[in-house]
Amino acid sequence: MQVTIDPGSGFCFGVDRAIQLAMAELETGNPVYCLGEMVHNKVQMDQLKAKGLKVITVADLPQLKVQKLMVRAHGEPPETFQLMKDLGITTLDATCPIVTKLQRKINTVFTAGLPFDSQVVIYGKSGHAEVAGLNGNAGNGAIIVSNEMDFEKIDFSKPIQLFSQTTMDAEGYRILGAAIKHRMTEIGNTDLVIHKSVCRQVSGRSPALRSFAAEHDVIIFIGGNNSANGAYLFSVCKSINENSFYISHIEDIDIKWFQKSKSVGITGATSTPAWLIEEVAAFIKEL
Ligand code: SF4
Repeated sequence: MQVTIDPGSGFCFGVDRAIQLAMAELETGNPVYCLGEMVHNKVQMDQLKAKGLKVITVADLPQLKVQKLMVRAHGEPPETFQLMKDLGITTLDATCPIVTKLQRKINTVFTAGLPFDSQVVIYGKSGHAEVAGLNGNAGNGAIIVSNEMDFEKIDFSKPIQLFSQTTMDAEGYRILGAAIKHRMTEIGNTDLVIHKSVCRQVSGRSPALRSFAAEHDVIIFIGGNNSANGAYLFSVCKSINENSFYISHIEDIDIKWFQKSKSVGITGATSTPAWLIEEVAAFIKEL
C-alpha cells in the first residue's frame, strides 16, 4: 500500500510564525503565557504545554502576575490590548499579519460608515477567537452570520460592508454574498461592498486538495476537533472521496479503513503540524 503525504499540508504561514515565536520564548526559560489555545490542535498544544506554555484567559489577567503575554495568530480585540497596557503587561504579538490587516480594514470601514448607519457583516463562526477580534474592530457591533438563517439580523435597507473570517470557505462566502446582494436588490438598495478576506492559505489549498483526494483510495485528514479550516478542508476531501476520514490522533485510526485500498493520502488542516502528519504516515506504513 502506497502512503503519500500531501505536499501542501502543514502549518499555514500565520500559525507557523506564532509557533516559532512561542518556541523561541520558551527557550529563554521564562514562563510563557498565551491568551487561549495557540493553535486548534490538541497534540501540538500538549507539546507546547510540556515545554512550559501556560494557556490563560482575559479574565485571569487581573489576578495573575503576568509580565509578558502572547497573543495568538487569531488576534484579539482592541480592548484586550488596552487591558494589557493598563496592567503593564508586555505583549508578544503573534497575530497573523493577514489578520492584522483585516482588522485594520474593518476598523477603517466601520469608522467611515458610522455617519451613514452602515452595517459591518462578518461571515464567520460566532464565538471564534478571530471573529471576536474582528468584531472588536467594528465597535463590537458587527453582525455575525454563518448562513442564510442568520439573515434576520441584517437590515437590508441599510448600507452593508461584508467581510469573511479568514478561514471560511471561499465558495460559501461567494454564495452568501450573492444572497445578500439579491435581498438588497429586491428592495432597491445597491449599497453593498463585498471585501475579499478569505485567506489564500486556506482557499488556495482547495483545488490541489481536490486532486489529491481523487488520486488516493483513502484519505486520512488530521485536524483538531475545533479547527474551523480543518472542518472546511475535510469537507473538500469528503466531497471528492467518500473514503475520507477525520482524525485528531493516531489512536483514532481504524485498520478496517485500509482493507481494500492500495493508496492512502495523508493531509491536514492549516493548524496541523508537519511532524504529526509524518508520524501518522509512518504509523500507517507500519500497519
Ligand atoms: S489561515 Fe491565513 S490568516 Fe489565518 S493564520 Fe493562517 S495565514 Fe494567517
